[in-house]
Parts: sequence; C-alpha cells; structure tokens
Amino acid sequence: MEKSKIISEKLEINVTNLCNLSCKGCSHLSPICIKHKFDTEKLQLCLNKLNTIFHCETVRLLGGEPFLAPNLQEIINIVRNSQICDNITVVSNGLLINEKHKQILHSIDVLEISDHHTGLNKEQIYKLTKGICKLVILDFEAFRLPYSEQGTQDKNLIEQIYKTCLISKIWKCYNLEDGYFYKCPQAHTLKSIKNLSVDGIDILKTHNLKSALKNYISSNCPLSACKYCLGAVGKIYSQQQIKRKEWRKEQNQPTESMIDYDFLEKLKTKANSNNNCVKSIISKEK
Ligand code: SF4
Repeated sequence: MEKSKIISEKLEINVTNLCNLSCKGCSHLSPICIKHKFDTEKLQLCLNKLNTIFHCETVRLLGGEPFLAPNLQEIINIVRNSQICDNITVVSNGLLINEKHKQILHSIDVLEISDHHTGLNKEQIYKLTKGICKLVILDFEAFRLPYSEQGTQDKNLIEQIYKTCLISKIWKCYNLEDGYFYKCPQAHTLKSIKNLSVDGIDILKTHNLKSALKNYISSNCPLSACKYCLGAVGKIYSQQQIKRKEWRKEQNQPTESMIDYDFLEKLKTKANSNNNCVKSIISKEK
C-alpha cells in the first residue's frame, strides 16, 4: 500500500435506505427515506478513483437493512475488487438473514449485528456464520436522539455539538454516498430531508482529491447538517419502534430541549467518553 494515501479505520456505504424496522432514533433516517436505486456503476468509478489516495481497514456496508438490498452481492464484489479496504463488514439487525444468504456471508469478513431487542435469533445467526465469517453482536440497551426537526439558530450550540461529535471525530464514520465523500451519515441523510446544500466532496469531479479530502476531514467548521443534528449528545432513551408516518413528529422539538447537557459537558473534557448505548459485545471468530 502506498504510504502517502490517507489511511482510515473505516468507510461506510449505505447499500439501501429500506429497513424492516422503524427505530425511533434511526440516525440514518431509514423510516422516512425515499427508496432510491443504488448506482453500482458510479460506486465502481468512485472507489477506483478514491483508491488512488485513500485506504481503510474496513468498508462497512449498512443501511437501512443491507439484506433488503437486491444488489448486495454485486456491491460486495465491487468493493472487494477495488482493493480500497482490508476487510468488508456487513452491519445488519439480523432479523432477515437465513440459509439463502450463505453465499453473501462467504464473501464478507465480518457480520456485525445490532441487536435492538426485536426478536433476534442468536442461535440461528451463530449456526449460519460458523466457519464462514467473523460474527460480532452489539447489544444495544439504549439509543440517543439523532436530530431535531426544528434545529437551532444558536451558533455556539451548533459548534459545541460539532466539536463533541463522536460520529465524525472519534468513530470517523466516513460515508460514501451517491458519488460524494461525507464525514458522517447525517451530512447526507439530513441534507435529503432538510433541503440543505451539499456538505461533502464530489469524488469524480474534484481534481486535487487528496488535498480536498484532508481539508474537509480536518475542518473546524460545522456542516450545514449540524444545525439540525444532535451529534453524540441527544438525550438517551430505550429502544422503541415508531409508526413511519409518526416518526418525524418524535423529532419535532427544538434542539435545545433534546440535548443531554451532562454528556455534552463530559465529552468536552473527555472526547471519547462512552455514550452508554451498547450494553455488551459478543465476538466470535470465523
Ligand atoms: S452532522 Fe455534524 S454533528 Fe451530526 S454527525 Fe455530522 S458532523 Fe456530527
């Protein structure tokens, strides 16, 4: 691998925004996203160009629920052939995986299950993945509110949310979406529902891509989406399924009333504080 490439732990690709669940705090806004056709040709072009200046340990394929994506296998093959990463992880709620998906499981390195306490059959998942791929199960006992429909005009608060953002700064959940590189999923999901300007890097049209990406990733300026996003500091709550048509109403409060101010203060002094959402992690090697 060329030493001069930008090295990252991960790159995330949303393979579908459809989901079989409708979780109250879905940070990818799947319950209200409009179905769109995934452009595999554009993905291939973007990865080929990105691969010249960027490498990551893991590409994480997520959604929505990835096993609802009709072209999941094709996407895995494109990612693998691009050589942009060392490993491929599919992130799923695990509820739809069955024998039919064995070929997909054979073609990935890790299956990561987010257990939302909605009836996951762990024994079945153990059997399906045994000897085929690594399995990681995250037991989510709580979630944090993802965004505010009303947002805030308070520039100081927006800056605090951005500065303490675990998603873009600590976990570095860089996203590749429809030809653009974003520093977090919210930068494109909130753009789509709030009609915001694009706050990402156009991979195919940007000439000095490496320098543009470096500047974008390290910028101290909040994104336009940060005005509505709660970053890592939304109030904590227990898992709930919400009817899709009522989902947006749940977020219809001003930012100021949706913030966990104690956690915000904690993150200011310790940037990688635990957000207390994951109770335990089970990890089983191949
Ligand atoms: S929109 Fe801003 S606050 Fe939200 S995840 Fe992205 S960088 Fe963080």
